[in-house]
Amino acid sequence: MPAHHLSDEILMAYAAGSLPEPLSLVVVSHVTLCPACRAQMETYEALGGSLIEEIAPVGLPDSALSDIFARLDDEASGPGEADPWGRAPARTPADHRSVDGSVPRPLRDYLGQDLSALNWRSVIRGVEEAEIALDGGEVRTRLMRIQPGVAVPKHTHGGEEVTLVLTGGYSDAGGHYARGDVQVADPTVDHQPVADPGEPCLCLVISDAPLKLTGPIGRWLNPFITY
Ligand SMILES: [Zn+2]
Repeated sequence: MPAHHLSDEILMAYAAGSLPEPLSLVVVSHVTLCPACRAQMETYEALGGSLIEEIAPVGLPDSALSDIFARLDDEASGPGEADPWGRAPARTPADHRSVDGSVPRPLRDYLGQDLSALNWRSVIRGVEEAEIALDGGEVRTRLMRIQPGVAVPKHTHGGEEVTLVLTGGYSDAGGHYARGDVQVADPTVDHQPVADPGEPCLCLVISDAPLKLTGPIGRWLNPFITY
């Protein structure tokens, strides 16, 4: 069970279908690894029929969420089924290497290829990243792979950043983060992750200009929590 979870605000926004696509990908990947957040989200989804629909802006079609959870219920299902993101079915390599197998199924489907086939580029020695093209406006989505013991330079993009750990782990001033953990970081605070010794740390990272991630949530959340 992960130690660092998604906020209720993000789970509610996801249940309402009002999250941008990159953040939705983080959410659906986290709940694959986190029974607690999945249960909480299902609670919000149960509310969705009566309450959330009244206040949520137009977002994902209602069917998208149920499609996603149908997939989560059936992790062992094969290729060729309907994709909740509307993309072509992912091919399923015959030989899953362990690192690919540790990527949550929704993210694997989204990538549609092995990790090794992504367009990795070196950031600094020991840190690589691969961009993932999503319909997220200015939100940047990428996988980061940090070799054991390597420190990631402090970020300078000035926006919020959401990180989901997929393999390995890292520590920063905020604590230790391991597989399944989510960190929402404001780069104005001390955020300089250092990867654990042992296996490489693979993370899904989305980043944005200030307030872009929280803005759409805050707009409808306030009336919600007055109930
Ligand atoms: Zn969780």
